[in-house]
Amino acid sequence: MEKEYNRFIRPGIIEGFAGPMMSGKTGRLLKRVDPLRWMHGKFSYIGFRPKIDNRDFRCRSSEDFIKWNYISNPEEIIYPSRDYDLIVIDEIQFLAAGIVEVILDLQKMGKNVIFAGLDLDFKGEPFGSMPELITIANEFEKLHSICTECGNPAYYTQRLINGKPAPYNSDIISIEGESEYEARCFKHHEVPGKV
Ligand SMILES: [Zn+2]
Repeated sequence: MEKEYNRFIRPGIIEGFAGPMMSGKTGRLLKRVDPLRWMHGKFSYIGFRPKIDNRDFRCRSSEDFIKWNYISNPEEIIYPSRDYDLIVIDEIQFLAAGIVEVILDLQKMGKNVIFAGLDLDFKGEPFGSMPELITIANEFEKLHSICTECGNPAYYTQRLINGKPAPYNSDIISIEGESEYEARCFKHHEVPGKV
């Protein structure tokens, strides 16, 4: 039995997952929340995701049982969270810098917070507030995927535009449908123009 299934709700504890695309981050969030579904409403949870126009960063696979609230600003998390025990935040790398303060406020409110996000952007550089979020997390786990080129553990997100590695100077968030993403190891992570 994995320990996630025995932890349930821990007031004031911040838990985080991070990793590249296709590393199962959302799946881990759902797995963490899943046991609460069968506890007759003893514990409550609420989920948030950033509202972004460019959805191509998102893993589309999961059939979620969490009803996600799509938000534009991290401050929108606080008010609806008052009535819940567990606050779940996915794709947290897209939220503005205020998310760090919001999570610390939730902690003061005695909430158990769980977040997941991409730790690195397609350039292999820290994504948004992830460095601070990883630091304030009481528990943190870095996930990885499998390199599409060699099958070794992949810690990086490769962005492809028309099948070619995206150059370093392209936008962090691309317009929908423009780019594809693959998980890659360090050796196969290509960013033309990166010094
Ligand atoms: Zn590789």
